[in-house]
Amino acid sequence: MRYILLLILHITLLATDYDCIVVGSSPFSLFEALYQYHSGNRVMILEEAAECGGAWKGINVCGIMHADLGCHQIGHDTTLKAFLEKYAGCKIVSMDHPNQAFDSTKSPNGWYFSRGCYELIENLLKLISATDITLLNNTRADNVSIDANQKIATIQTKNGSYTTKKVIVTPMVSINVQPANQPQNYGKSKHYHLYMLIQDPTTPRFSYHGGVVSGASRMMNLSHFVGLVGTGRQLIVVQTYNEQYLSSAQTFLDGLKKSNLVDKGAYILETQSYIYESGAFHQGLIHNMGGQGIVEVLQTGHFQSLSTYIPKWQMVLKPYQDALRTP
Ligand SMILES: Cc1cc2nc3c(=O)[nH]c(=O)nc-3n(C[C@H](O)[C@H](O)[C@H](O)COP(=O)(O)OP(=O)(O)OC[C@H]3O[C@@H](n4cnc5c(N)ncnc54)[C@H](O)[C@@H]3O)c2cc1C
Repeated sequence: MRYILLLILHITLLATDYDCIVVGSSPFSLFEALYQYHSGNRVMILEEAAECGGAWKGINVCGIMHADLGCHQIGHDTTLKAFLEKYAGCKIVSMDHPNQAFDSTKSPNGWYFSRGCYELIENLLKLISATDITLLNNTRADNVSIDANQKIATIQTKNGSYTTKKVIVTPMVSINVQPANQPQNYGKSKHYHLYMLIQDPTTPRFSYHGGVVSGASRMMNLSHFVGLVGTGRQLIVVQTYNEQYLSSAQTFLDGLKKSNLVDKGAYILETQSYIYESGAFHQGLIHNMGGQGIVEVLQTGHFQSLSTYIPKWQMVLKPYQDALRTP
């Protein structure tokens, strides 16, 4: 009897609030959270922003809902395409001809989501809602303290702390690892975007393009993805090299006209800039703090890196429609 009581006490002391806490909500983090949940774990997601998706979220700009945050290019990987169609319910189209299905011979810029990256995040959030996963937006994970002996971690937020057996982060998450025995230098990177809502009644002439004009690294015409085709207006986003170019809308529009990428008579209706800040997780700290096996870092360098995890994820994830029907 005494042993049973001791065992219960031991289990109680070691009980954690969650089996797994995922910090951040890029597609990598949301898929991994679903994978952990469907593997039988109690899962929490902490996201400091109001919206989920990280660099792949949809934002409201120039009065248009769910526009891509910046410019994206995924490429031609058909295994990844098939995975997103089956497990995230995405409709995939040609990036170069968004009103057509993807055909690798006719789409040098690869494939994309029919409603932009918002489509992927929206569908993943529907899958999350069909589970018991706890998702807290507007909640920054400030610190993670590792107890290497008990093999648990405690995550602190401004509203409380949560214990867990496993913490999953991504390289662009910024979080302090405790106990800190060395400087934790999390330089944030800024990514600059200028949105231009223009009057141009012609059919959009590109979806994804290189810079064209000095100061622009790449651009996307988001009109197809946000449903503006046929309205006489087009939404273009330019990723700029730095902050100073965020006031260069007229120069960018003139460059687009010169390259025949918009109509010669096009003019600007509205502009809005958006600066995205990404962090930099110091992966070496996990080793220093004895956090191996407790803190896992997903490798997220490019969107295509999702492919690395497909064999693991598809062992437990259900196809999209089935997952929505049966939690
Ligand atoms: C602007 C931009 C454009 C990109 N374009 C492309 C592209 O075209 N093609 C491509 O293949 N790859 C692209 N990438 C690469 C992209 O980084 C990866 O595809 C992927 O989004 C990285 O995922 P991540 O989780 O590491 O970072 P992110 O996508 O930045 O997500 C990190 C998330 O964690 C949250 N977060 C951070 N710290 C905390 C904390 N302490 N507590 C709670 N939440 C936290 C952030 O708010 C954010 O939502 C782009 C990246 C950026 C920044």
